[in-house]
Amino acid sequence: MLIVQKYGGSSLRNPERIKVLAKRIATLKERKKYSMVIVVSALGDTTDRLLRLSSQVCSDPPQRELDMLISTGEQISASLLTMALCSFGKRAISLTGRQSGIITDNFHTRARILSIDPGRLKRLLEEDNIVVVAGFQGITSESEITTLGRGGSDLTAVALAVALKADRCEIYTDVEGVYTADPKIVPEARRLKRISYEEMLELSSVGAKVLQLRAVEMAEKHNVHLYVASSFNPKRGTLISGRNR
Ligand code: ADP
Ligand code: ASP
Ligand code: MG
Repeated sequence: MLIVQKYGGSSLRNPERIKVLAKRIATLKERKKYSMVIVVSALGDTTDRLLRLSSQVCSDPPQRELDMLISTGEQISASLLTMALCSFGKRAISLTGRQSGIITDNFHTRARILSIDPGRLKRLLEEDNIVVVAGFQGITSESEITTLGRGGSDLTAVALAVALKADRCEIYTDVEGVYTADPKIVPEARRLKRISYEEMLELSSVGAKVLQLRAVEMAEKHNVHLYVASSFNPKRGTLISGRNR
């Protein structure tokens, strides 16, 4: 059983949260013996902070340099989570987008994934590593670092699930699934148990950032079922698939 899990920046705010997540991942690995790929986003609001920094040194930074800058956030998360997993006695390794074989076009800051060569990832999984992948990033055929658009770690998770033919793709965030509206703004919003790709596409395209639009498009195209749930508690989340009942 191969499972891809993605943890967003809202779930990785500080060292304590990273340790809690590492413990949770280590326990699941011990109990279920899954092959596990963990995709991570930058800690908290790191990406916004980096963008603010860039605007303090340049009013119109080159897109290539923005990618050099903002791709660093996910690398911090991946290495820290991996260290925490190792401290729990787990065999784990972090990989950048490039090391994961994610090739994109050269549209900096909104690059599209062209192909994935999952060879190294597969070998590491066969050696029973928990593989922690820095989300949101790839590499062009000219070795230029690219990023996949805001919220792009969701896309990394779906794309890896497709490339590895994963049995499950789970997106963990700071709310308990997909709601009828943003639960942080609309208190009476209801959590949906199941939702179709079509309905999710609609929500994402009007700005429900719980799932990046491109990630939903790719999930639909390859019929990858997505499970969105909270990384803070074990309550049931939302299943996104081809039909809604
Ligand atoms: P992550 O850091 O895990 O990627 P995001 O901040 O990108 O998390 O997305 C999760 C946020 O999406 C939630 O905190 C919530 O405020 C917002 N959101 C907007 N619309 C919805 C919706 N319909 N259902 C769930 N969450 C939504
Ligand atoms: N860190 C990136 C962003 O803030 C990617 C992601 O969170 O998925 O957009
Ligand atoms: Mg997100």
